[in-house]
Amino acid sequence: MGICALCEKQSKKVRTGKPHENLIKVDEPRIFTGTTPSGFKEQDYLCLTCESKFSHSTNKNDVTWTLWRG
Ligand SMILES: [Zn+2]
Repeated sequence: MGICALCEKQSKKVRTGKPHENLIKVDEPRIFTGTTPSGFKEQDYLCLTCESKFSHSTNKNDVTWTLWRG
């Protein structure tokens, strides 16, 4: 099954943070405090339309939106 148009767009977002309207949060955010002063956060999302999974990361060294293909 292919991904929906909204997810297609979402996967191309590089620096903008907002999830599209059919993405719901999965689980609690994962907080990483590590070595950087501020740390960063990861949150998993699931699309209600096409069931694609995304991870959103606030790590500046990481891609903001990562699409996980099943
Ligand atoms: Zn989708």
